[in-house]
Amino acid sequence: MSDTCAENGLRSVETAKQMLIDSIIPITEAKTIPLGEACGKVLAEPVLAALDLPPCDNSAMDGYALCGDFERYTVIGKSLAGHPFTGSLEPGQATRITTGAAVPSGADRVQMQENCTFDGDQLSQSRAAVPGENIRRRGEDVHTGQSLIPVGSKIKVPHIALLAAAGVAEVTVLRPIKAALLSIGDELKPIGTPASELGDGDIYDSNRIALKAALEQLDVEILDLGCWPDEPGKIREAFAHARDNADFVLTSGGVSVGEADYTKTVLQELGEIGFWKLAIKPGKPFAFGKLPKEKGETLFFGLPGNPVSAIVTLYQLVIPALDKLSGTADDQRQPPLQTRARLLNGIRKKPGRTDFQRGFTYCDNDGIQVVETRGVQGSHILSGFAQANCFVVLPREGGDCETGDWVTVEPFNAPLR
Ligand code: AMP
Ligand code: MG
Repeated sequence: MSDTCAENGLRSVETAKQMLIDSIIPITEAKTIPLGEACGKVLAEPVLAALDLPPCDNSAMDGYALCGDFERYTVIGKSLAGHPFTGSLEPGQATRITTGAAVPSGADRVQMQENCTFDGDQLSQSRAAVPGENIRRRGEDVHTGQSLIPVGSKIKVPHIALLAAAGVAEVTVLRPIKAALLSIGDELKPIGTPASELGDGDIYDSNRIALKAALEQLDVEILDLGCWPDEPGKIREAFAHARDNADFVLTSGGVSVGEADYTKTVLQELGEIGFWKLAIKPGKPFAFGKLPKEKGETLFFGLPGNPVSAIVTLYQLVIPALDKLSGTADDQRQPPLQTRARLLNGIRKKPGRTDFQRGFTYCDNDGIQVVETRGVQGSHILSGFAQANCFVVLPREGGDCETGDWVTVEPFNAPLR
């Protein structure tokens, strides 16, 4: 890795994200677990369907299974879900049938019950059913032996439903990735400390609990190493412990150019800096590096201390990197969901960095996607962020935007939503 930067001193967010992804070797250790515990995990081995889906031709409606095309049919029995009709229909015969029940042998269409009238056991239709109508065919969803989802998929709710329906009770998945999480700063006090006990200039360590909440929504095992002072010796001790007990280290604070910012120095001593400082606002002092250890290496993400910067860089850079580390296949990783929206307010911006402003986007009464920024856009202003549901992504070289301009918005996804 090299620490050389692109022109005007700052590497672009896109380049940084690609560098992260390219330099990460995914984990490979796998284990077999019950399907019910697999949501959010990455599939490590193929899973094959144990049967056809649907397993037999069955009815899409509550109604009557009919044999052939006739004016009247004689109803001779019923086929209920779980209780199939065991006989066979002759032309002009019908059975009562419920949704999901097997279509009796001989039946070639199903009429919904709303279209049926009766005279004793004689059935007439208000509209003739056509051949195949309301019949769900055996195997039209899945064939026996078919691979159900690609290896490297992050298992989601529809996957769970599909696998369960196809008779899969256990899956082999990659193990969760392990994070070591810590905050750095002499001014930080643990939440729970009474406000009256805070010294002059002290603040609560809000980043650590927020980052932890975010990681908990991903498949990440968290080692919370707490809060550390702005002392190189202590920081070295913390980083070494973090390195030895995790796949990646996530820090916040101490990564800028202040005289008490030691993150970068210690990272350089113990390992190597991949890059530091990006053309991103907020979040410029983001640092990425690696800490070599006896077996392999631990990734290092140094987030800026400002709380909005920490969350923005986590979302824009760390989470895509974790997706790669977790073993999610290249073609299974979700690109950020982006759309265009019309600005409801003007925005001041200087060219030079990609700006991720916090906004609220919605579809207005005319069906137009609109967005307004929320709160003062400072990297320390959390109240606006807390009201937002998207980032307004303003391109690096762009300047001010006016009301009515079309801009790119990135609706929040997990773990922000
Ligand atoms: P730093 O990156 O250490 O220069 O910190 C930048 C700003 O973020 C300062 O105002 C810090 O007080 C604040 N800050 C640093 N760490 C945290 C944290 N864990 N929680 C909340 N604010 C923090
Ligand atoms: Mg600091």
